[in-house]
Amino acid sequence: MTLPFNRLLLKISGEALMGSGAFGIQVPVMERIAEEVADVAALGVKMCLVVGGGNIFRGLATAAQGMDRVAGDYMGMLATVMNALALESALQSKGLAARVQSAISMPTICETYSRASALRHLAQDRVLIFAGGTGNPFFTTDTAAALRAAEMECDALLKGTSVDGVYSSDPKTDVGARRYERLTYGEVLSQNLKIMDPAAITLARDSRIPVIVFSIRTPGALMGAVKGEGRFSLISA
Ligand code: UDP
Repeated sequence: MTLPFNRLLLKISGEALMGSGAFGIQVPVMERIAEEVADVAALGVKMCLVVGGGNIFRGLATAAQGMDRVAGDYMGMLATVMNALALESALQSKGLAARVQSAISMPTICETYSRASALRHLAQDRVLIFAGGTGNPFFTTDTAAALRAAEMECDALLKGTSVDGVYSSDPKTDVGARRYERLTYGEVLSQNLKIMDPAAITLARDSRIPVIVFSIRTPGALMGAVKGEGRFSLISA
């Protein structure tokens, strides 16, 4: 079959790695996600990953408790590096060549982000895992995902969440929440839908990168979204 995409960026939240736990990584969950990424890569799709850190640390949450926001954000970015290293080894155990590149330089642990070398890795069919968010406090890994998707000229940004698309309100707490099949960047922004932060949506819009929101908790949903036949919401122009 002809796939609609050649090069994809998959955003994996830290919470996705947490599974049913309350903190950290559930190894079987991470291995299942790695397996699904390997299946997509086996179709010939070049894969870029951005991983969050919310399963370990969130700057905003600690700022609310009186800690310095900027220090908390740097701790959050470091948390994404831990997740990225775990994902790298999970992908390698599935036989995939993977490389972590961090926006914050830590050369004894992983490569530092460089667009040119990232593109070279992709050309050699390596899976890229972008860690360290944008490298700046006050941002999120969703914005990092949109940024890297634009830099790497990805055909789409796949956002794996805990629900199967974009809803008018939180479906976990509101039984009347309505699910959208398709919506525009403008609708996400004007209705203040809490799917990605406005900076991420604006960047995706300006770079004309469609955003596909699907449930990373549902086995097979990633492949469905990649083939355009699964259950997901599409955000585009
Ligand atoms: N963070 C940051 N700048 C970035 C990306 C992340 O300061 O460019 C920090 C921020 O404190 C955030 C934490 O890292 O709360 C974890 O990232 P995020 O909340 O986006 O992770 P996710 O929700 O995807 O697990």
